[in-house]
Amino acid sequence: MHINQYLNTYGDYLKRRFGQRVQKLSLSGNFTCPNRDGTLGRGGCTFCNISSFSGEGKESLSISEQLAQAPEKRSKIFLAYFQAYTSTYAELQLLKRMYSEALEYPNIVGICVGTRPDCVSDEVLDLLERYQDEGKEVWLELGLQSAIDETLDLINRHHHFSQYADTVNRARSRGIKVCAHLIIGLPGEELIHNLTTLQMVIDEGVDALKLHQLHIVKGSAMAAMYRRGEISVLELDEYAEIAARLIQYTPPEIMYERIGASVQDASLIAPMWSTQRWPCIDKIGEILAEKGGQGTAIGRPYIYDGISRG
Ligand code: SF4
Repeated sequence: MHINQYLNTYGDYLKRRFGQRVQKLSLSGNFTCPNRDGTLGRGGCTFCNISSFSGEGKESLSISEQLAQAPEKRSKIFLAYFQAYTSTYAELQLLKRMYSEALEYPNIVGICVGTRPDCVSDEVLDLLERYQDEGKEVWLELGLQSAIDETLDLINRHHHFSQYADTVNRARSRGIKVCAHLIIGLPGEELIHNLTTLQMVIDEGVDALKLHQLHIVKGSAMAAMYRRGEISVLELDEYAEIAARLIQYTPPEIMYERIGASVQDASLIAPMWSTQRWPCIDKIGEILAEKGGQGTAIGRPYIYDGISRG
């Protein structure tokens, strides 16, 4: 069983576009985050562990040095992935210098910029659009996590869905591709909330999705809540059922870049099944093989209306 039979993968898209495998190389621009530096808040999102975004000690290295030292180069061409923190949260000239340095590095064919939905100015989008006009592969990766404002407040995101929608519209009107990051298993959420999030994201227009299970990591606010028994995490089977359902409700043209995440360091508190990557992917694949792959669900899902929440 090959999972690519049942969903439209980002990896396959890149192979089609470039005729070979393309690998993303993670970079840290030494950015901070408005939900950490006091602009919006200081505590951060309750699932976020500040050290997990520290860039693995890359902060003192230039972008070129990070690219030169990137481990495990499994392909010959690469996308520069500005991943750590909020990678549009700096002066435009500084962003331009770093993005351009990455794009000028040998064998870098494009750029992926990960950020919060409320931190993307028109000037940054204009810059990304210029790279795209030059033939580079350009992606804006937006951490949405949930489209339900009540959940976003609960996890201390300090933004709402309307800000995500606004940024998506401004990006896609420039032809910039958008990948939305969604978390399954957030406190107070169940399948209906995830389906609602998916439908709202699809309705705004999106090019790719990354799904992952809620992780409780050391140093996060949720770690304390988990220890006090106030929140729980999904079992692997529960996660796989929800992820598969979302995939079935996803139109075939939308790509999946990730359908689950693994954590291989000591920061993970729960769920421990997250230490391994493949059991989760295999389980989702089994469900899709048995019940239908991407786009096979009929109609629109029942949408959360704010009433069913306990
Ligand atoms: S998850 Fe992102 S937006 Fe939230 S506190 Fe961490 S770096 Fe900031």
